[in-house]
Amino acid sequence: MTLSGGCFCGAVRFETDGAPFNSTLCHCADCRRVSGAPAVAWFSVPTNTLRWLAGQMQVRRSSPQAVRGFCAACGTTLTYQNDSWPDEIDIATASLDDPNLVPPLDHTFVRSRLDWLKLDDGLPQFQTTRTNS
Ligand SMILES: [Zn+2]
Ligand SMILES: [Zn+2]
Repeated sequence: MTLSGGCFCGAVRFETDGAPFNSTLCHCADCRRVSGAPAVAWFSVPTNTLRWLAGQMQVRRSSPQAVRGFCAACGTTLTYQNDSWPDEIDIATASLDDPNLVPPLDHTFVRSRLDWLKLDDGLPQFQTTRTNS
């Protein structure tokens, strides 16, 4: 399956043939603040499967170990990469042309969930990361 997507203004376009894994809805404060949204859906693919078809995203280090990619022209959140796992890259699910293709399979950093965002989908919830629960 080839997944394609890009930013709001269309300057940055990408596609990947990688099999998505670790699909999640992240409630952490960093995701919230860089996106301006209450939570951000992400999935991972092997870094070498991501191809840039147009434009070039800008990157910004958002924490000592993490770099986030976004469109410099329109600001759309696009990627997250952690120095500890250079072989995988997270793609913002909602930047896909069809985000319904990769639904979240759990919730991460639920300890930071906003009070008014009610979860009722029955998916597993992790207080922080999936591995640290
Ligand atoms: Zn853009
Ligand atoms: Zn997050």
